[in-house]
Amino acid sequence: DPRLEAISAAIRVVPNFPKKGIMFQDITTLLLDHKAFKHTIDIFVDRYKDMQISVVAGVEARGFLFGPSIALAIGAKFIPLRKPGKLPGKVISESYELEYGHDRLEMHVGAVEPRERVIIIDDLVATGGTLSAAMSLLESQGAEVVECACVIGLPEVKGQHKLKGKPLYVLVEPS
Ligand code: IMP
Repeated sequence: DPRLEAISAAIRVVPNFPKKGIMFQDITTLLLDHKAFKHTIDIFVDRYKDMQISVVAGVEARGFLFGPSIALAIGAKFIPLRKPGKLPGKVISESYELEYGHDRLEMHVGAVEPRERVIIIDDLVATGGTLSAAMSLLESQGAEVVECACVIGLPEVKGQHKLKGKPLYVLVEPS
């Protein structure tokens, strides 16, 4: 798919951000490139439009940049999965490990109904810890997570291992 090359080319790599030794994959430059941004949304929409998906759940913060466009196009609702203390209603919460320490994701109780078919979206998967926490939140409410989807997959970290056997769909892998 030639669109994937345009998407790859529009992602900027920033060395040593946010700290030394990290090659940060920056999708803000993808958002500046209308064609590449549209290709990104179109590819996800083509994949999910006929899969009876009723929920797109996006991981804060960069999952919020892609999820709502996909949700609108496939006729699904959008659920924000947020960092602790941001959602005003009653929440459920799931911790996950980071390289140093841990963090938490929260979701509003009642956002999803039992047996709804969900895809979870984020900009990038590395270890898969974040997506696993997101999956746990949705599954704890009886939802069916059909797939996790990311614009970028870091191949060396094998995020798939932490995704409990659920499919992971990524558009590009940094070379
Ligand atoms: P994981 O939990 O190890 O899979 O890390 C994925 C999370 O870290 C996602 O929410 C990403 O947004 C974030 N992340 C890690 N590295 C990068 C990067 O290079 N660019 C953008 N986000 C990143």
